[in-house]
Amino acid sequence: MESWGRATAARPTVCGSLPASEGRQRYASEPMNPLTVAVVAGLLGLVFGSLANVVIYRVPRGESIIRPGSRCPSCGEPVGWRDNLPVVGWLLLRGRCRRCRAPIGARYPLVEAAMGLLWFAITLRLVSAGLGWAVPAYLALSFLCVTLAVIDARTRLLPNRITYPAFPIMLTLLLLASVGLGDLGRLVRGLLAALAVGAFFLLLALISPRGMGLGDVKLAPTLGLSLGWLSWGAVAFGVFAGFLLGALAGLAAIALLGLTRKSLLPFGPWLVTGALLGVLAGADVAAWYARSLIGS
Ligand SMILES: [Zn+2]
Repeated sequence: MESWGRATAARPTVCGSLPASEGRQRYASEPMNPLTVAVVAGLLGLVFGSLANVVIYRVPRGESIIRPGSRCPSCGEPVGWRDNLPVVGWLLLRGRCRRCRAPIGARYPLVEAAMGLLWFAITLRLVSAGLGWAVPAYLALSFLCVTLAVIDARTRLLPNRITYPAFPIMLTLLLLASVGLGDLGRLVRGLLAALAVGAFFLLLALISPRGMGLGDVKLAPTLGLSLGWLSWGAVAFGVFAGFLLGALAGLAAIALLGLTRKSLLPFGPWLVTGALLGVLAGADVAAWYARSLIGS
């Protein structure tokens, strides 16, 4: 079974055949300590979580995400930089507008915290595996996934304004990562996975138009590309996890909320959650499964 994606280009080993003291010294001057890089990425993720909140609010309304600056939706008061600080601003205001005291939803700090945690975890994972070149691509993917999950949960739509540009953006970032790593095979595998996952979702939408929306079909190639660049195991795990979570949520909704099968929940949030789990854990689980098959 292929690995999740340890870089094929060998990194210089830290201790190698050097004497222990010299090895430690070289370790100390290692420029890319995964934990340090991940903490920086996590803090940056909090800020990008704020941007995600703007996208979540404005894109479904057809508004510009650049102008005007953030305003209170109730009284139109511009939000000062201090109140705009991720998570902290909301906590200091106790979830209310400074001027009109209208409540500000807990969604805002939650999206910011989720983005920060994801950016931390994904960066730690990739840099530890020697795939630092791919960090920008997968940070962009998690921005895309968080944003689309919340928009779909609120509006039951995955807007074309996001799903259409997502594929060329991910393709460009993964091309750069492949060139940086000297491994274009990953890009080829990603494109094959984009075709396979896209065709699979299109087929499901044709068979069951009510269960699978067209937005899901438009997003599927982007997720296939991103997971395929890592490994086939990540593709299999990511897609399977999405369907499993969606099915469990559907059953829970029927049992607890008394929803009928015709008013099922949107699938997008589960689809992108599965994909992110595929990025974080895909190959570990796939390799474990392959080992347990051989072992039995
Ligand atoms: Zn206000």
